[in-house]
Amino acid sequence: MDYNKLYIDGKWVKPNSSKTIEVENPANKEIIAKIPASNKDDVEKAVSAAKLAFESWQYEDLSKRVELVQKLKDEIENRKDDMVKIIMDELGRSKAFALDPQVQPYIDAMEDFIDIVNNYEFEVEKDGYKVRKEPFGVVAAITPWNYPLGQIIKKIIPALLVGNTIVLKPSQKTPLVAYILAECFDKVGFPKGVFNLVTGAGSEVGDMLTKHKDVDAVSFTGSVEGGKAVGEAAINGIKKVTLELGGKSPAILLKGGDYELGIKKTLNTVYNNTGQTCSAFTRLLIPKDEKEEIEKLVVDMSKKYKFGDPYSEDKIVGPLVSQKQFDKVKKYVEKGIDEGANIIYGEVPTDDSKGYYVGPVVFSDVKNDMAIASDEIFGPVLSIITYKDEEDAIKIANDTTFGLAGAVFGPEEKAHKIANRIKAGTITVNEGNRSHKAPFGGYKHSGIGREGGVAGFEAFLQEKAIFS
Ligand code: NAD
Repeated sequence: MDYNKLYIDGKWVKPNSSKTIEVENPANKEIIAKIPASNKDDVEKAVSAAKLAFESWQYEDLSKRVELVQKLKDEIENRKDDMVKIIMDELGRSKAFALDPQVQPYIDAMEDFIDIVNNYEFEVEKDGYKVRKEPFGVVAAITPWNYPLGQIIKKIIPALLVGNTIVLKPSQKTPLVAYILAECFDKVGFPKGVFNLVTGAGSEVGDMLTKHKDVDAVSFTGSVEGGKAVGEAAINGIKKVTLELGGKSPAILLKGGDYELGIKKTLNTVYNNTGQTCSAFTRLLIPKDEKEEIEKLVVDMSKKYKFGDPYSEDKIVGPLVSQKQFDKVKKYVEKGIDEGANIIYGEVPTDDSKGYYVGPVVFSDVKNDMAIASDEIFGPVLSIITYKDEEDAIKIANDTTFGLAGAVFGPEEKAHKIANRIKAGTITVNEGNRSHKAPFGGYKHSGIGREGGVAGFEAFLQEKAIFS
């Protein structure tokens, strides 16, 4: 595919900008594509197309919007193999991991979103007045690289279903799956301008969108630093803003709980996307007097995860996404050793000659104020922290600037009581599994606002009271 194009106003167009950004395959460092580094003129065209399209899209029958999103879902299903292949190449995932969790859960989520909107009351009659929920207008959707399709779907489908129009700026590191998505939009025949794709760096294109006078709402997923810049600019422009940011989530193993279950669920979140998951349970909190037994289990279970070339096997954990991520993970592992924590499994990553490969690293003897316990590393690095009693566990769990997710594994009633006291947006108790029908988002520095669930729709709606 020729990637030197943008999708604006219902067609593929040549960018005004002649600058490009290289997209690298992290598994072998090959340059697999060059995408436009869009300029002001490109952004201008996309925003004005979205603004014009909003004039009619906001009044389109809900049934028509749902019908188009249903067709889009079917088309994405048709293009699933292409999406899997491109995510393998741009994110360094193996085939099975590119399909799940990268593609399939978000195709399924579209059904959940259709379900939610079909049951949503856009007008509520009250005594003497009614409340209407109306879309904002042009939504700038700015997304990260770690779930390149999923993060887009979670924003744009609810936003479109309730009548907003979109200018999407995907991460410049993994923008290619968004091109296939744009092809799906094109095939389905959405009204022109309802969905637009521009590409480029966050500090340039993302910033232009966030500050554009005709962008009415900004939905951002990314780092805390990026979120601060976007939040500040959006508030300066009096725009609605949603921020989905990072995490350093705790998993608490309670005495009497199913340790194998808890460790398996923890390791899946920390290892399976090479640790590049915002809601990963990267701090494992364990009872002090069972340290030895639990740590042995963690090491034994860690050995079952295979890391390496994502093209070599269907279900192998691939490399980190970039040199920047590799350097960051290496730096933190070294820092953990310097701070006095002990590696009980794995080693400092050293070889980035062929691709950004790292293996799992498990740290023991971690104190909650060490950098490896307080900062988001975004690599397959687990910090094990001991607690004295349950009050201590809750205190450690909450002693963080983040609040995205958490987990409690233990006797059901006690686990639920503790779950209620963790200051985070999503908690897993024992066998619990997340659903896109439920809200997802952060407390504290993990963000403002929610995606998924009814709240994920209301993020794209404003309320109007009509008295009569
Ligand atoms: P990032 O902040 O570098 O970039 C995210 C997106 O924002 C990219 O498209 C980027 O180009 C753009 N951007 C960056 N700075 C910008 C600015 N000043 N103005 C406008 N746009 C800007 O983040 P990343 O490295 O791509 O993603 C990893 C981060 O995302 C991690 O911190 C992770 O925890 C977080 N994340 C959070 C969630 C969630 O739902 N809470 C989900 C996935 C990832």
